[in-house]
Amino acid sequence: MEHLLPSPDVGPDAGPYWDAAKENRFVIQQCTDCNSWRFFPSHLCPSCGSDKAEWKEPSGKGVIHSFTEVHRGPTPEFRAHTPYMIVLVDLDEGPRIMTNLIGNNLDQCQIGAPVEVCFENRQNDTKVPQFRLSKTEADT
Ligand SMILES: [Zn+2]
Repeated sequence: MEHLLPSPDVGPDAGPYWDAAKENRFVIQQCTDCNSWRFFPSHLCPSCGSDKAEWKEPSGKGVIHSFTEVHRGPTPEFRAHTPYMIVLVDLDEGPRIMTNLIGNNLDQCQIGAPVEVCFENRQNDTKVPQFRLSKTEADT
């Protein structure tokens, strides 16, 4: 049986994010006053201060800004998955998101590499948006 990591803690502004993830949809907030995208979820736009926003699906694509390989997990569940990759991804729409890089080609992880969203099953029928390296022309 697949050993699943714990389900996420859902903060007060993040309900739609996790509800969409259960349906394999990646959504973040976009300000309806200045059109800037943002992450983490928040009540007010960090660019203009507006409280008007919509949850929308960005492209789900971005590039790796930085990464680290974790060898000492914080809990027994995460220790069972070491080593794993934590990456900062600059989404094509602008926001920088901290996530895990998953897949069987993590040795190809490098700054600037193109990535795309995917979904990882967690406990309690939840899913977490994660990222994987995008296929490039060189892979085909
Ligand atoms: Zn705004």
